[in-house]
Amino acid sequence: MDFALTEEQTAIFDMAFAFGQEHIAPFARQWEAEGTIPKSLWPQIGELGFGALYVSEETGGAGLSRLDATLVFEALSMACPSVAAFLSIHNMCAKMLDSFASDEMKARIMPDILSMKTVLSYCLTEPGSGSDAAALKTRAAKTNEGYTLNGTKAFISGGGYSDAYVCMVRSGEDGPKGVSTVYVEDGTAGLSFGGLEEKMGWKSQPTAQVQFDDCKIPAANLVGEEGKGFTYAMKGLDGGRLNIASCSLGAAQQALTMTLQYMSERKAFGKSIDQFQGLQFRLADMEIELQAARVFLRQAAWKLDHGAPDASKHCAMAKKFVTEAGSKVVDQCLQLHGGYGYLADYGIEKLVRDLRVHQILEGTNEIMRVITARHLLAENH
Ligand SMILES: Cc1cc2nc3c(=O)[nH]c(=O)nc-3n(C[C@H](O)[C@H](O)[C@H](O)COP(=O)(O)OP(=O)(O)OC[C@H]3O[C@@H](n4cnc5c(N)ncnc54)[C@H](O)[C@@H]3O)c2cc1C
Repeated sequence: MDFALTEEQTAIFDMAFAFGQEHIAPFARQWEAEGTIPKSLWPQIGELGFGALYVSEETGGAGLSRLDATLVFEALSMACPSVAAFLSIHNMCAKMLDSFASDEMKARIMPDILSMKTVLSYCLTEPGSGSDAAALKTRAAKTNEGYTLNGTKAFISGGGYSDAYVCMVRSGEDGPKGVSTVYVEDGTAGLSFGGLEEKMGWKSQPTAQVQFDDCKIPAANLVGEEGKGFTYAMKGLDGGRLNIASCSLGAAQQALTMTLQYMSERKAFGKSIDQFQGLQFRLADMEIELQAARVFLRQAAWKLDHGAPDASKHCAMAKKFVTEAGSKVVDQCLQLHGGYGYLADYGIEKLVRDLRVHQILEGTNEIMRVITARHLLAENH
């Protein structure tokens, strides 16, 4: 067993970190205030191969492992978890398309997805169905030319901003077997968007409802087979959970680094506050928690890469553990900054707000426990 990163993995991490520090970190607060990420950022990220991290090399992607990808998201989140998490959604969609779309469809759409000229959103959640995603109601009625879509998707990251939407829609019976995946391009007649949601964090990402009103798409925009869409959507999520966990890890690590620096400079009662043993113990606890989170996350990624039978369980467990550890750490870091932690200028309060949603999306942390318990009970029978 070797816990060390390879030279190549270290280079991937370093490249992502350097890019984030130069092109994202200095603007993160401005983009948060503006409520959007400039579209010009994405082709730069695409040039590094980060728009298709684990898309196969045959399709033109970087062909990296899921473990490699966690390094990219951890490193980019040290600059801004909101931007990194948005990229993770694009990558999740790109992988779904690479895995399940026809060769004709891939030839048509993938080049622009790889370069990030096309930015993708993932549309599963609806106003009436979140955790119980298989209850989705958006209808895809078959026509001679393709499908007519009617319904609403809720909470869509990049709604009204992205260039194309990977949507789970009901083309058949109730339940998971009646769900198909379709590709809807921005500008399609009948596609519209709700107003921007006001959120606690992830503010640089536009979030909006995606609405279909007699929205007609060609048959060629069905991804894979009819009725398989729920399986495709769930396959994307194991890796998506690793990515979100990586975003929590990177941001929390960054907060801890900033806190160590702050505590070495801030004086109280005649000494720097990192000299109080009670506070040192809190630093030690955060270090222990983050190191444990990192090992657990990378093990889950390794299991997914190796097709281990318990990979889904480990992805779920890691998502829950790491996102909660990340939130606890950034909250502690805020506390250790005293009043300054509460001020936007110090960069910590944004992380507290940004990381909170990681416990809710890509499956809530309650659902992560549902998955873990289901596997646990099955293993015991
Ligand atoms: C900022 C943001 C961005 C998002 N981006 C996207 C996106 O791009 N695409 C997309 O498709 N979705 C997106 N989502 C939606 C997100 O995935 C859902 O909010 C999430 O899956 C939870 O669904 P819900 O909000 O309907 O909560 P519900 O499913 O209604 O859950 C409410 C509460 O009940 C709990 N609960 C539900 N069922 C169970 C159960 N069986 N056992 C125990 N507890 C349970 C939940 O854990 C939760 O605490 C986003 C959400 C947010 C906030």
